[in-house]
Amino acid sequence: MKIGGIERAIIGKYNRPVPRYTSYPTALQFRDDIPRQSLLDQCAESAEPLSVYVHLPFCESLCWYCGCNTVITRNHSQADRYLDAVERELGLYGPVLGAQRAVRQLHLGGGTPNFLTPVQLRRLGRMLQEHFAIEAAAECSVELDPRTLTQEQIAIFRDFGFNRASFGVQDCNPAVQRAVHRVQPHEQNIQTMSWLRDAGFQSINIDLIYGLPLQTADSFRETLKTVLALNPDRLALFSYAHVPWIKPAQKILEQSALPQAEEKLRIFIESLEYLTTRGYDHIGMDHFARVDDELARAARAGTMQRNFQGYSTSVAPSIAGFGVSAISQTPASYRQNHKQLDDYYEAVNHDRLPIERGLVLSREDRMRADLIQRIMCNFALDTGEFARRWGISFDATFSDAWTRLGELETDGLVHRSSDRLDVTELGRLLIRNIAEVFDAYANPAPNRHARAI
Ligand code: SF4
Repeated sequence: MKIGGIERAIIGKYNRPVPRYTSYPTALQFRDDIPRQSLLDQCAESAEPLSVYVHLPFCESLCWYCGCNTVITRNHSQADRYLDAVERELGLYGPVLGAQRAVRQLHLGGGTPNFLTPVQLRRLGRMLQEHFAIEAAAECSVELDPRTLTQEQIAIFRDFGFNRASFGVQDCNPAVQRAVHRVQPHEQNIQTMSWLRDAGFQSINIDLIYGLPLQTADSFRETLKTVLALNPDRLALFSYAHVPWIKPAQKILEQSALPQAEEKLRIFIESLEYLTTRGYDHIGMDHFARVDDELARAARAGTMQRNFQGYSTSVAPSIAGFGVSAISQTPASYRQNHKQLDDYYEAVNHDRLPIERGLVLSREDRMRADLIQRIMCNFALDTGEFARRWGISFDATFSDAWTRLGELETDGLVHRSSDRLDVTELGRLLIRNIAEVFDAYANPAPNRHARAI
């Protein structure tokens, strides 16, 4: 039997826990016994502009599917203490990153950045301007929750140079919304889009999730239809990651009907067809962009890149992440802040960088990270060019992986030739499985990732 033209056996074979590869090596490899100084090497060596991320963890209520690091509260004054801590952290990093370091990308994520009151948002904007030289053409983006957003907040983001925005819709069906504890009338989405457009935001993204309780391919088509009427520039279509052993609240969702892998795949395949026949390109894992959006153009030109914050037209080589659980990156290392708020406060209040764990990348790690990034951004790899750039023999270095790809080729996920690897339409749906073939650390703890579908 086939699902959306795909053999059921193939679905069963590849639907197993696989990393999302937002980094390589994945965060599972981060360790807490690495000397802090080695994680900070190269932070200041390059004068290259940075990408800056600030994690704002607060939300007024918990969406039961949520996989983010959040603090649920209606007490907005909690964000004052948090901003005190972020300000201290920014100060601690001054000598590490260099004063007034140029910033090419700025991203506020969470949690809900618009949990902050107007006064708190202005304070955050001023803090960032005091510590960094944000380039005039910087891409400054913010994640928004339409349920609590005000036009005043949008105006403040705009005042501080924010020009990109993303907001979560997830599903427009009221029954699905009730089942996941996120009731969001569509009028709020319409209002948010209209405010953002009026304020001059570009490349506006909407997040959707498939695989939530009560969803079917038919019901989700209605959601897509409703959302496309808003004319978003980009759409993220995330597969719901059911990991109740990490996020216990997700257990509640098991009381409703969670679509099984076959229905999930059917939803995705039908969505793919729906979007790509209505002016959107499937640019990379989970992501779509209107054909005229700059990201779709970059994807077609083979210049699109990807980092912890997702796909982008230009990614700075280093990310400086601030706030609880934030991840930072240099060309040779990753580091992650404390995931517990109390630990984060404790560190910065004692003038310690709040690093909990990290990883120093070997040359081989960096090479494999580059390869996985190319496959996930371009759905193809020029093995000859790759080998020349890294000064290796591709055949000798990746002979095991190349052999294992034979099975994926038989199953229709890839096509191999003497100097190229091409991902097929089916392979695009299972891109994480293809990337995993090149993961030297694959499968250390199979139950810690969400399934591929
Ligand atoms: S608003 Fe976003 S971050 Fe907050 S609980 Fe819901 S899904 Fe999680």
